Amino acid sequence: MSFVSEFNALPVPTLLQQSRTAGVAAVRETLTRDRLSLLDFARLISPAATELLEHLGRRSQVLTRQRFGKVIRLFAPLYLSNECINNCKYCGFSRDNPILRVTLSVDEVRREARALAGQGFRNILLVAGEHPKFVSNGYLAECVAALHEETPSVSLEVGPMEIAEYRPLVTAGADGLVVYQETYDRAVYDDMHTAGPKRNFDWRMETPERAYAAGFRRLGIGALYGLADWRYEALCVAAHAEYLLRTCWKAALTISLPRLRPCAGEFHPLTHISDRELVQLVCAFRLMFPDVGLVLSTREPAKLRDGLFPLGITLISAGSHTEPGGYTGAGRENIHQTVRGRIVEAGASEWAGPGKGDNTPATGQFNIADDRSVEEVARQIQQLGYEPVWKDWDAALMT
Ligand code: SF4
Repeated sequence: MSFVSEFNALPVPTLLQQSRTAGVAAVRETLTRDRLSLLDFARLISPAATELLEHLGRRSQVLTRQRFGKVIRLFAPLYLSNECINNCKYCGFSRDNPILRVTLSVDEVRREARALAGQGFRNILLVAGEHPKFVSNGYLAECVAALHEETPSVSLEVGPMEIAEYRPLVTAGADGLVVYQETYDRAVYDDMHTAGPKRNFDWRMETPERAYAAGFRRLGIGALYGLADWRYEALCVAAHAEYLLRTCWKAALTISLPRLRPCAGEFHPLTHISDRELVQLVCAFRLMFPDVGLVLSTREPAKLRDGLFPLGITLISAGSHTEPGGYTGAGRENIHQTVRGRIVEAGASEWAGPGKGDNTPATGQFNIADDRSVEEVARQIQQLGYEPVWKDWDAALMT
Protein backbone atom coordinates (compact mmCIF):
# COMPACT_ATOMS: atom_id res chain seq x y z
CA MET A 1 0.00 0.00 0.00
CA SER A 2 1.24 3.51 -0.77
CA PHE A 3 0.12 6.94 0.31
CA VAL A 4 -2.08 7.08 -2.79
CA SER A 5 -4.53 4.61 -1.18
CA GLU A 6 -4.61 6.61 2.07
CA PHE A 7 -4.96 9.84 0.15
CA ASN A 8 -7.92 8.47 -1.81
CA ALA A 9 -9.60 7.47 1.48
CA LEU A 10 -8.98 10.76 3.32
CA PRO A 11 -12.16 12.18 4.90
CA VAL A 12 -11.66 15.40 2.96
CA PRO A 13 -15.16 16.93 3.44
CA THR A 14 -14.96 16.56 7.25
CA LEU A 15 -11.43 17.91 7.45
CA LEU A 16 -12.16 20.81 5.13
CA GLN A 17 -15.30 21.68 7.02
CA GLN A 18 -13.35 21.85 10.30
CA SER A 19 -10.63 23.95 8.66
CA ARG A 20 -13.25 26.46 7.55
CA THR A 21 -15.80 26.50 10.33
CA ALA A 22 -14.14 25.40 13.62
CA GLY A 23 -14.88 27.87 16.42
CA VAL A 24 -12.42 29.49 18.81
CA ALA A 25 -13.48 27.09 21.59
CA ALA A 26 -12.55 24.08 19.44
CA VAL A 27 -9.18 25.65 18.63
CA ARG A 28 -8.53 26.33 22.33
CA GLU A 29 -9.38 22.74 23.13
CA THR A 30 -6.95 21.52 20.45
CA LEU A 31 -4.22 23.66 21.98
CA THR A 32 -4.50 21.74 25.27
CA ARG A 33 -3.41 18.47 23.59
CA ASP A 34 0.10 17.13 23.35
CA ARG A 35 -0.45 14.96 20.29
CA LEU A 36 -2.55 16.28 17.47
CA SER A 37 -4.68 14.50 14.87
CA LEU A 38 -5.46 15.66 11.35
CA LEU A 39 -8.75 17.00 12.68
CA ASP A 40 -6.82 19.10 15.22
CA PHE A 41 -4.56 20.35 12.44
CA ALA A 42 -7.67 21.35 10.46
CA ARG A 43 -8.79 23.45 13.42
CA LEU A 44 -5.38 25.14 13.71
CA ILE A 45 -5.58 26.40 10.12
CA SER A 46 -9.17 27.65 10.53
CA PRO A 47 -10.12 31.34 10.30
CA ALA A 48 -11.02 31.16 14.02
CA ALA A 49 -7.44 30.17 14.90
CA THR A 50 -6.13 33.47 13.50
CA GLU A 51 -7.68 35.10 16.59
CA LEU A 52 -5.25 32.99 18.62
CA LEU A 53 -2.27 33.56 16.34
CA GLU A 54 -0.08 35.07 19.05
CA HIS A 55 -0.70 32.07 21.25
CA LEU A 56 0.03 29.71 18.35
CA GLY A 57 3.23 31.63 17.61
CA ARG A 58 4.48 31.37 21.19
CA ARG A 59 3.77 27.61 21.35
CA SER A 60 5.41 27.09 17.99
CA GLN A 61 8.50 29.06 18.99
CA VAL A 62 8.94 27.17 22.27
CA LEU A 63 8.51 23.78 20.56
CA THR A 64 10.98 24.67 17.81
CA ARG A 65 13.62 25.77 20.32
CA GLN A 66 13.11 22.63 22.39
CA ARG A 67 13.48 20.31 19.41
CA PHE A 68 15.97 22.15 17.20
CA GLY A 69 17.79 24.60 19.49
CA LYS A 70 18.30 28.26 18.58
CA VAL A 71 19.73 27.56 15.17
CA ILE A 72 18.67 28.21 11.59
CA ARG A 73 20.25 25.93 9.00
CA LEU A 74 21.12 27.25 5.56
CA PHE A 75 21.18 25.58 2.17
CA ALA A 76 21.67 26.80 -1.38
CA PRO A 77 19.88 25.65 -4.53
CA LEU A 78 22.30 24.95 -7.38
CA TYR A 79 20.50 24.82 -10.72
CA LEU A 80 22.09 22.31 -13.09
CA SER A 81 19.78 22.75 -16.05
CA ASN A 82 16.64 24.59 -17.09
CA GLU A 83 15.80 22.17 -19.90
CA CYS A 84 12.45 20.49 -19.37
CA ILE A 85 10.10 18.22 -21.30
CA ASN A 86 7.09 19.07 -19.13
CA ASN A 87 4.67 21.91 -19.46
CA CYS A 88 3.65 23.19 -16.05
CA LYS A 89 1.62 26.36 -16.50
CA TYR A 90 3.12 28.02 -13.40
CA CYS A 91 6.81 27.37 -14.17
CA GLY A 92 9.25 29.48 -16.17
CA PHE A 93 11.11 26.37 -17.35
CA SER A 94 8.06 24.90 -19.10
CA ARG A 95 8.98 23.27 -22.39
CA ASP A 96 6.97 25.70 -24.50
CA ASN A 97 8.37 28.87 -22.92
CA PRO A 98 10.84 30.49 -25.37
CA ILE A 99 13.56 31.10 -22.79
CA LEU A 100 17.36 30.96 -22.63
CA ARG A 101 18.42 27.48 -21.58
CA VAL A 102 21.58 25.67 -20.62
CA THR A 103 22.78 22.51 -18.90
CA LEU A 104 26.00 22.98 -16.94
CA SER A 105 28.91 20.62 -17.47
CA VAL A 106 30.13 18.69 -14.43
CA ASP A 107 33.12 21.03 -14.18
CA GLU A 108 30.81 24.04 -14.25
CA VAL A 109 28.69 22.48 -11.52
CA ARG A 110 31.84 22.01 -9.45
CA ARG A 111 32.69 25.70 -10.03
CA GLU A 112 29.26 26.78 -8.85
CA ALA A 113 29.52 24.54 -5.77
CA ARG A 114 32.94 25.96 -4.89
CA ALA A 115 31.55 29.48 -5.12
CA LEU A 116 28.78 28.46 -2.71
CA ALA A 117 31.31 26.79 -0.40
CA GLY A 118 33.21 30.09 -0.43
CA GLN A 119 30.06 31.77 0.89
CA GLY A 120 29.89 29.18 3.68
CA PHE A 121 27.36 26.66 2.33
CA ARG A 122 27.92 23.00 3.15
CA ASN A 123 24.41 21.89 2.23
CA ILE A 124 23.53 22.05 -1.47
CA LEU A 125 20.30 21.21 -3.26
CA LEU A 126 20.86 20.28 -6.91
CA VAL A 127 17.86 21.39 -8.97
CA ALA A 128 17.09 20.54 -12.60
CA GLY A 129 14.20 20.44 -15.01
CA GLU A 130 13.09 17.02 -16.22
CA HIS A 131 14.88 16.11 -19.42
CA PRO A 132 16.14 12.55 -19.99
CA LYS A 133 18.63 13.67 -22.66
CA PHE A 134 20.24 16.70 -21.00
CA VAL A 135 19.63 15.67 -17.38
CA SER A 136 20.27 11.92 -17.63
CA ASN A 137 20.77 9.73 -14.59
CA GLY A 138 24.42 9.27 -15.50
CA TYR A 139 24.90 13.04 -15.61
CA LEU A 140 23.19 13.48 -12.25
CA ALA A 141 25.33 10.74 -10.68
CA GLU A 142 28.47 12.44 -12.00
CA CYS A 143 27.38 15.80 -10.59
CA VAL A 144 26.60 14.28 -7.19
CA ALA A 145 29.91 12.39 -7.08
CA ALA A 146 31.84 15.53 -8.03
CA LEU A 147 30.21 17.55 -5.26
CA HIS A 148 30.22 14.83 -2.66
CA GLU A 149 34.02 15.04 -2.53
CA GLU A 150 33.79 18.56 -1.10
CA THR A 151 30.23 19.09 0.14
CA PRO A 152 29.01 17.15 3.20
CA SER A 153 25.35 17.29 2.23
CA VAL A 154 24.01 17.00 -1.32
CA SER A 155 20.32 16.60 -2.05
CA LEU A 156 18.28 16.57 -5.24
CA GLU A 157 15.18 18.19 -6.65
CA VAL A 158 14.85 16.57 -10.07
CA GLY A 159 12.29 14.64 -12.11
CA PRO A 160 10.85 11.58 -10.28
CA MET A 161 12.51 8.24 -10.95
CA GLU A 162 12.21 4.51 -10.33
CA ILE A 163 13.88 3.00 -7.24
CA ALA A 164 16.60 1.39 -9.38
CA GLU A 165 17.37 4.76 -10.99
CA TYR A 166 17.69 6.45 -7.60
CA ARG A 167 20.14 3.90 -6.17
CA PRO A 168 23.23 5.05 -8.15
CA LEU A 169 22.53 8.61 -6.99
CA VAL A 170 22.50 7.50 -3.36
CA THR A 171 25.68 5.50 -3.98
CA ALA A 172 27.27 8.60 -5.52
CA GLY A 173 26.60 10.49 -2.28
CA ALA A 174 23.15 12.13 -2.50
CA ASP A 175 21.38 11.90 0.85
CA GLY A 176 18.21 13.95 0.37
CA LEU A 177 15.38 14.09 -2.14
CA VAL A 178 12.87 16.91 -2.44
CA VAL A 179 9.68 16.49 -4.43
CA TYR A 180 6.69 18.79 -4.19
CA GLN A 181 3.33 17.46 -5.25
CA GLU A 182 2.67 21.06 -6.41
CA THR A 183 -1.07 20.59 -5.86
CA TYR A 184 -2.94 17.72 -4.20
CA ASP A 185 -6.11 18.69 -6.09
CA ARG A 186 -6.36 16.20 -8.96
CA ALA A 187 -8.49 18.45 -11.16
CA VAL A 188 -6.18 21.44 -10.74
CA TYR A 189 -3.15 19.16 -11.21
CA ASP A 190 -4.56 17.91 -14.53
CA ASP A 191 -5.22 21.45 -15.66
CA MET A 192 -1.76 22.74 -14.68
CA HIS A 193 0.29 19.94 -16.22
CA THR A 194 -0.52 19.98 -19.88
CA ALA A 195 2.32 17.88 -21.33
CA GLY A 196 5.04 15.49 -20.26
CA PRO A 197 5.47 12.66 -17.73
CA LYS A 198 4.62 14.97 -14.84
CA ARG A 199 0.97 14.56 -15.78
CA ASN A 200 0.96 11.33 -13.75
CA PHE A 201 -0.36 12.53 -10.36
CA ASP A 202 -0.10 9.18 -8.50
CA TRP A 203 3.43 8.45 -9.73
CA ARG A 204 4.59 11.79 -8.40
CA MET A 205 2.83 11.30 -5.07
CA GLU A 206 4.62 7.96 -4.53
CA THR A 207 8.05 9.47 -5.23
CA PRO A 208 9.16 10.00 -1.59
CA GLU A 209 8.42 6.34 -0.88
CA ARG A 210 10.51 5.19 -3.86
CA ALA A 211 13.29 7.56 -2.79
CA TYR A 212 13.22 6.10 0.71
CA ALA A 213 13.32 2.53 -0.64
CA ALA A 214 16.39 3.52 -2.67
CA GLY A 215 18.19 4.73 0.47
CA PHE A 216 17.59 8.49 0.67
CA ARG A 217 17.53 9.47 4.32
CA ARG A 218 16.22 13.02 4.01
CA LEU A 219 12.89 13.57 2.30
CA GLY A 220 11.27 16.91 1.49
CA ILE A 221 7.64 17.41 0.52
CA GLY A 222 5.27 20.33 0.08
CA ALA A 223 2.60 22.00 -2.01
CA LEU A 224 2.97 25.10 -4.16
CA TYR A 225 0.57 27.60 -2.63
CA GLY A 226 -1.40 29.59 -5.19
CA LEU A 227 -2.86 26.75 -7.25
CA ALA A 228 -5.68 25.21 -5.15
CA ASP A 229 -7.34 26.21 -1.88
CA TRP A 230 -4.48 26.57 0.64
CA ARG A 231 -6.33 24.85 3.48
CA TYR A 232 -6.99 21.82 1.30
CA GLU A 233 -3.33 21.69 0.24
CA ALA A 234 -2.13 22.03 3.84
CA LEU A 235 -4.41 19.22 5.01
CA CYS A 236 -3.09 16.93 2.27
CA VAL A 237 0.54 17.84 3.04
CA ALA A 238 -0.13 17.07 6.72
CA ALA A 239 -1.70 13.70 5.80
CA HIS A 240 1.27 12.94 3.53
CA ALA A 241 3.75 13.88 6.27
CA GLU A 242 1.91 11.70 8.79
CA TYR A 243 2.10 8.76 6.41
CA LEU A 244 5.81 9.25 5.68
CA LEU A 245 6.69 9.62 9.36
CA ARG A 246 4.99 6.29 9.97
CA THR A 247 6.30 4.34 6.98
CA CYS A 248 9.65 5.97 6.17
CA TRP A 249 10.66 6.44 9.80
CA LYS A 250 14.42 6.21 9.28
CA ALA A 251 14.33 9.37 7.16
CA ALA A 252 14.34 12.97 8.38
CA LEU A 253 11.36 14.78 6.91
CA THR A 254 11.04 18.44 5.87
CA ILE A 255 8.00 20.38 4.73
CA SER A 256 8.37 23.43 2.48
CA LEU A 257 5.82 26.19 2.12
CA PRO A 258 6.52 27.81 -1.26
CA ARG A 259 4.14 30.44 -2.58
CA LEU A 260 3.95 31.09 -6.31
CA ARG A 261 6.28 33.79 -7.63
CA PRO A 262 6.31 35.63 -10.98
CA CYS A 263 8.13 33.74 -13.75
CA ALA A 264 8.45 33.47 -17.53
CA GLY A 265 5.01 32.60 -18.90
CA GLU A 266 3.45 35.19 -16.59
CA PHE A 267 1.16 32.77 -14.86
CA HIS A 268 -1.04 34.37 -12.23
CA PRO A 269 -1.86 32.51 -9.01
CA LEU A 270 -5.31 30.93 -8.99
CA THR A 271 -5.72 31.23 -5.23
CA HIS A 272 -4.31 33.39 -2.47
CA ILE A 273 -2.79 32.77 0.93
CA SER A 274 -2.06 35.95 2.88
CA ASP A 275 1.11 36.63 4.88
CA ARG A 276 -0.85 36.20 8.10
CA GLU A 277 -2.24 32.87 6.91
CA LEU A 278 1.28 31.75 5.98
CA VAL A 279 2.42 32.53 9.53
CA GLN A 280 -0.55 30.56 10.85
CA LEU A 281 0.35 27.64 8.59
CA VAL A 282 3.97 27.55 9.81
CA CYS A 283 2.76 27.45 13.42
CA ALA A 284 0.15 24.77 12.64
CA PHE A 285 2.74 22.52 10.98
CA ARG A 286 5.10 22.98 13.94
CA LEU A 287 2.43 22.11 16.51
CA MET A 288 1.33 19.09 14.47
CA PHE A 289 4.87 17.86 13.72
CA PRO A 290 7.27 19.04 16.44
CA ASP A 291 10.28 17.22 14.92
CA VAL A 292 9.78 17.95 11.24
CA GLY A 293 12.01 20.56 9.60
CA LEU A 294 10.17 23.52 8.06
CA VAL A 295 11.77 25.13 5.02
CA LEU A 296 11.47 28.72 3.82
CA SER A 297 13.04 29.89 0.58
CA THR A 298 13.90 33.29 -0.90
CA ARG A 299 10.48 33.29 -2.59
CA GLU A 300 9.32 35.26 0.46
CA PRO A 301 10.33 38.89 1.11
CA ALA A 302 13.03 39.71 3.67
CA LYS A 303 10.71 41.24 6.27
CA LEU A 304 8.33 38.31 6.33
CA ARG A 305 11.22 35.82 6.43
CA ASP A 306 12.79 37.59 9.38
CA GLY A 307 9.47 37.43 11.21
CA LEU A 308 9.03 33.74 10.42
CA PHE A 309 12.55 32.55 11.37
CA PRO A 310 11.88 32.44 15.13
CA LEU A 311 8.37 30.99 14.78
CA GLY A 312 9.16 27.50 13.53
CA ILE A 313 11.37 27.66 10.45
CA THR A 314 14.47 25.47 10.68
CA LEU A 315 15.98 25.49 7.19
CA ILE A 316 16.33 28.40 4.77
CA SER A 317 17.98 29.31 1.52
CA ALA A 318 19.78 32.63 1.07
CA GLY A 319 21.43 34.56 -1.75
CA SER A 320 19.74 32.17 -4.19
CA HIS A 321 19.85 32.11 -7.98
CA THR A 322 17.24 30.14 -9.90
CA GLU A 323 19.14 30.05 -13.21
CA PRO A 324 21.91 27.54 -14.06
CA GLY A 325 25.27 29.25 -13.68
CA GLY A 326 23.78 31.98 -11.50
CA TYR A 327 26.60 32.05 -8.93
CA THR A 328 29.60 32.21 -11.27
CA GLY A 329 28.32 32.90 -14.78
CA ALA A 330 29.23 29.30 -15.71
CA GLY A 331 27.74 27.91 -18.91
CA ARG A 332 26.98 31.24 -20.62
CA GLU A 333 28.84 30.29 -23.79
CA ASN A 334 26.49 27.34 -24.29
CA ILE A 335 23.20 29.14 -23.78
CA HIS A 336 20.54 28.62 -26.43
CA GLN A 337 16.94 29.58 -26.94
CA THR A 338 14.08 27.20 -27.39
CA VAL A 339 10.65 27.69 -28.88
CA ARG A 340 8.17 24.89 -28.18
CA GLY A 341 11.05 22.66 -27.10
CA ARG A 342 13.11 23.29 -30.28
CA ILE A 343 16.44 25.11 -30.29
CA VAL A 344 16.25 28.33 -32.36
CA GLU A 345 18.76 31.01 -33.29
CA ALA A 346 19.84 33.26 -30.44
CA GLY A 347 17.77 36.41 -30.29
CA ALA A 348 14.81 34.85 -32.13
CA SER A 349 12.50 35.23 -29.15
CA GLU A 350 11.44 38.59 -27.83
CA TRP A 351 10.89 36.97 -24.41
CA ALA A 352 14.40 35.83 -23.89
CA GLY A 353 16.23 38.86 -25.25
CA PRO A 354 19.69 38.47 -26.72
CA GLY A 355 21.38 35.13 -26.37
CA LYS A 356 24.52 33.15 -27.06
CA GLY A 357 27.79 34.99 -26.96
CA ASP A 358 26.61 38.20 -25.29
CA ASN A 359 27.07 37.00 -21.70
CA THR A 360 23.34 37.00 -20.97
CA PRO A 361 22.46 34.54 -18.17
CA ALA A 362 20.06 31.65 -18.65
CA THR A 363 16.46 32.35 -17.65
CA GLY A 364 15.62 31.73 -14.00
CA GLN A 365 12.78 29.52 -12.80
CA PHE A 366 11.09 32.36 -10.91
CA ASN A 367 11.90 35.76 -9.43
CA ILE A 368 13.13 35.69 -5.86
CA ALA A 369 11.75 38.15 -3.30
CA ASP A 370 14.50 38.19 -0.66
CA ASP A 371 17.54 39.38 -2.59
CA ARG A 372 19.79 40.04 0.41
CA SER A 373 23.29 38.64 0.31
CA VAL A 374 24.13 35.50 2.25
CA GLU A 375 26.16 37.59 4.74
CA GLU A 376 23.22 39.92 5.35
CA VAL A 377 20.88 37.01 6.03
CA ALA A 378 23.40 35.30 8.32
CA ARG A 379 23.87 38.57 10.22
CA GLN A 380 20.13 38.98 10.57
CA ILE A 381 19.83 35.44 11.97
CA GLN A 382 22.46 36.31 14.58
CA GLN A 383 20.71 39.55 15.44
CA LEU A 384 17.58 37.54 16.13
CA GLY A 385 19.60 35.53 18.66
CA TYR A 386 19.98 32.43 16.49
CA GLU A 387 23.05 30.69 15.17
CA PRO A 388 23.33 30.21 11.40
CA VAL A 389 24.39 26.61 10.70
CA TRP A 390 25.76 25.76 7.28
CA LYS A 391 25.67 22.01 7.41
CA ASP A 392 22.32 20.20 7.48
CA TRP A 393 23.46 17.01 9.13
CA ASP A 394 26.50 14.84 9.59
CA ALA A 395 26.62 11.49 7.81
CA ALA A 396 28.75 10.10 10.64
CA LEU A 397 25.86 10.64 13.08
CA MET A 398 23.38 8.74 10.91
CA THR A 399 25.27 5.45 10.50
S1 SF4 B 1 7.95 22.67 -12.52
FE1 SF4 B 1 9.61 21.24 -12.91
S2 SF4 B 1 8.73 19.80 -14.36
FE2 SF4 B 1 7.42 21.60 -14.42
S3 SF4 B 1 8.24 22.85 -16.09
FE3 SF4 B 1 9.20 23.52 -14.19
S4 SF4 B 1 11.12 22.39 -14.10
FE4 SF4 B 1 9.79 21.35 -15.58
